[in-house]
Amino acid sequence: MEKGQLQQLQSFLSTSKNIVIVPHRNPDGDAMGSTLALCQYFNNKGHSAKVVAPNEYPEFLRWLPGSDSDVILFDKQNKQAKRAIESSDIIFLLDFNALHRVGDDMAKTLELYKNDFVMIDHHQQPDTIAKYLYSDTSICSTAQMVYHFLEMLNDVKSITKDIATCLYTGIMTDTGSFRFRSTTSETHRIVGDLIDKGAQNDKIHSNVYDANSYSRLQLLGQALTNLKILPEYKTAFITLSEAEKKKYNYKKGDTEGVVNYALSLNDIVFAAIFIEDEEQEIIKISLRSKGDFSVNQFSRNHFNGGGHDNAAGGKSDLSLKETIAYFTSLLPNYKNDLQNSYEA
Ligand code: 5GP
Ligand code: MN
Repeated sequence: MEKGQLQQLQSFLSTSKNIVIVPHRNPDGDAMGSTLALCQYFNNKGHSAKVVAPNEYPEFLRWLPGSDSDVILFDKQNKQAKRAIESSDIIFLLDFNALHRVGDDMAKTLELYKNDFVMIDHHQQPDTIAKYLYSDTSICSTAQMVYHFLEMLNDVKSITKDIATCLYTGIMTDTGSFRFRSTTSETHRIVGDLIDKGAQNDKIHSNVYDANSYSRLQLLGQALTNLKILPEYKTAFITLSEAEKKKYNYKKGDTEGVVNYALSLNDIVFAAIFIEDEEQEIIKISLRSKGDFSVNQFSRNHFNGGGHDNAAGGKSDLSLKETIAYFTSLLPNYKNDLQNSYEA
């Protein structure tokens, strides 16, 4: 964020304000960790802050500090959410780059918003809706950016144990437990500081990763059974139909991370999962890659989505079968890129 902008924002926040903080739809660990951290920070500073999430977040994040008291769900608690938005002095948009990422309904409400937006995000090509923009695509997570934001405010000292716990969770989940390329020595220094401030790393890992239900593991088993490999294109993909989701009692968040199993195959650089979503009448797509093959670009080109170079998402209005046919028909155009996607 530019210095002048930061000063302006700082002076705006020097008196008590009503603040709303918004993560993207289907919020993940980074979205919830970063919004809840910032929310608690502002409340501790004498503001009145709430997180307004477009919809429900996965069960494995419901233990996060503040998640029972600070979160309003736009879809389920619509009146309360709209009231919070309308009576707010400023809105922070965290972990997404374009308004439509909150879903059509909530986007409509936000489009009518009269006051200013602040955007803190690490996705590529951010929209221009925010008066105050802190965008950096090189940073592994929005949670790490919230830490840097507090550094800019000269207030890292105000990070409590609860805030540290939320930030740690965001960084951990968005870096695949500190393994992706975006994890830097600075990330580790910050994580070290968060542990010093009280984040219990072993507990956080176990809360997030050892929270499987039996049916979730069975759903994973089905997903792995459906896994297809296209060695010519160094590509692997997984499908899950609505019937399969029902059979294994699917709950939000159950498919999180499943696409990574496809990417974990040796000699695979491009992985995808296609999940039928009856409610939204779409096929939700998650794409992952290794090396230089940009799934952000691929998704923008063909699946109405985006994200990062190595992790992106998108959607298709075709049936599951047609979507797969379309996807596989695209691959010959990328054969060279996929064969040569360099992996350090
Ligand atoms: P996931 O596959 O885990 O849902 O998302 C991977 C990354 O791509 C995340 O950073 C997410 O924000 C982004 N992403 C997922 N779906 C979409 C989408 O439909 N549009 C855009 N622009 N980004 C997406
Ligand atoms: Mn993120």
